[in-house]
Amino acid sequence: MVKKPIHFLVLYPTNSKWAPDDLAAFAEQLRQTGLTGKRHLPGLFSAGPAYLEMIVYLGCSPQIALGETETATTIRLNGPFDKPELITAANARPRCRSCRQAIDLEKTLGWADETVTCLHCNTSSYAVKLDWRRKAGFARFFIEISNVFESEAVPSDGLLEKLEHLTGQTWDYFYWREG
Ligand SMILES: [Zn+2]
Repeated sequence: MVKKPIHFLVLYPTNSKWAPDDLAAFAEQLRQTGLTGKRHLPGLFSAGPAYLEMIVYLGCSPQIALGETETATTIRLNGPFDKPELITAANARPRCRSCRQAIDLEKTLGWADETVTCLHCNTSSYAVKLDWRRKAGFARFFIEISNVFESEAVPSDGLLEKLEHLTGQTWDYFYWREG
């Protein structure tokens, strides 16, 4: 059986060194914003009452499954990790920052300081320095929202402002496809 790819919208702090000091307190603050709802497992929540105000779906008839069913959207707090992790989508084709050509990766890159050589202009750079075009994030902490296809939805300005207010950090996002 082929495992169906799982799609996520992932939020992360742009300061790769930052992570919440107290994960339980941060989870509670997120719950109070209405982004997250019921806790299923430690760090895994259903979408909360304000989810659709905070995540803006761009299509005209998006398939949104909220609630408590097995296939419903979940929000997972992933981390904090001891060191920043580079998370890249399985379908990522990052661009070389020297010649702007897309780079075909032979394998998923797991390390930020892995060296990638551009076949077009021969420039070598660290994986983290490539232009991932919203298909990778580098952080110690991620908020992963399942069932969001690439470019299907974006975090609202209100959510990004709330996260900045709660953490003192600016946040960005990318689309992650697993498998
Ligand atoms: Zn190049």
